[in-house]
Amino acid sequence: MKTKTLSIHGLHNKKYSGNKELTPPINQTATFYFNSINDAEQTFNCENDQYVYSRGRNPNLEELEDKITLLEEGAFAVSFSSGMGAIATLLMSLLKSGDSLLSHNVVYGSSHNFIANILPEYGIKTEMMDLRKLDPEMVNGYKVIYLETPANPTLDIIDIRKLRELIGEDTYIIVDNTFATPILQQPLLIGADFVIHSATKYIGGHGDAIGGLVVGKDKDFENTLRFGYMCEFGTAMAPFNAWLFNRGLKTLEYRMKGHCQNAMAIANYLEGHNKISKVYYPGLPSFDGYMVAKEQMKKFGGMISFELIDGIRGMGSDEERAVVFVDNLKLFKIAVSLGDTESLVEIPAKMTHRGLDIKPSLIRLAIGLEDAEDLIDDIEQALETI
Ligand SMILES: *Cc1c(COP(=O)(O)O)cnc(C)c1O
Repeated sequence: MKTKTLSIHGLHNKKYSGNKELTPPINQTATFYFNSINDAEQTFNCENDQYVYSRGRNPNLEELEDKITLLEEGAFAVSFSSGMGAIATLLMSLLKSGDSLLSHNVVYGSSHNFIANILPEYGIKTEMMDLRKLDPEMVNGYKVIYLETPANPTLDIIDIRKLRELIGEDTYIIVDNTFATPILQQPLLIGADFVIHSATKYIGGHGDAIGGLVVGKDKDFENTLRFGYMCEFGTAMAPFNAWLFNRGLKTLEYRMKGHCQNAMAIANYLEGHNKISKVYYPGLPSFDGYMVAKEQMKKFGGMISFELIDGIRGMGSDEERAVVFVDNLKLFKIAVSLGDTESLVEIPAKMTHRGLDIKPSLIRLAIGLEDAEDLIDDIEQALETI
């Protein structure tokens, strides 16, 4: 079946509701009872698949896990309390003291902090490198390679196929697919071992719940990740959040189409504007990663970053002008997060990406589902103020 159908039905032959509810009820329960001790013992021996406790499995989470597994064409998925819960738990499950990890030098701020500062406290060696330039001498010998493509917030594109060809099979490749979603890119099919999502973003799509997902392609690893780590770390997703993510998924493909269409129009507008020096959008032929993005993605996503030109009317530094511009936007709300129906704007160096080497004047837009003309009008009036 195709992605629109899968994101609505999941496994079509599996019941997600006991009483023929079209929308499965929220299984708002901490625990599940057994008919007998014998029954319970069989479950604990893994001889049947009854639910036990919502920190390990819950029907709402399972519906979400089935759907994301199908959409990413993986073998299993595990839900988490947040994207960071997914990232921290997966990395701790794969890496032991003495192991080493290589990460792209631009990733989400908290992911960067976890990799650069927390993992080394446990004896795990971590290094950052620009993975857009793939040098076989430099990328070999790691247990895990971690990346986002497109990367937050510079939209760097990394060639997953080429990376896999260079490093062989004994290194795990983890791709944070939050920006692309499985609608635009399926990393497991081109060499990744694990995909991560901040479900908070496009999967939820409405900015009303925090959650994360890991999708893997080796079914044998599911029990280790789920019961060996997630369940013991307690990074489980809440049933109500899973219910919201299941609802969000139903319209994911239509929403992604809208985000991509709006973003393309706005990127073209920005690129043609005389107050803007550089636009970072994978769908622009002038962008560094355009050729790889065209190969590896179906469309180019809803995230754009850009910089203003130097020395407009002598109005202070780049950084100060970026602040004036952002403060003067009306429709775009100043907020972290992305993937919502509302368009959002932020300055990563001052907000999400403190501590990374990101230009202080870089402005990041998360393009929403409003009319592109209204968004462009808003940008236009804010550009007139600088
Ligand atoms: C937001 C985000 C995360 C973290 O997800 P949370 O759900 O906020 O914990 C991880 N990676 C990327 C690319 C993100 O944008």
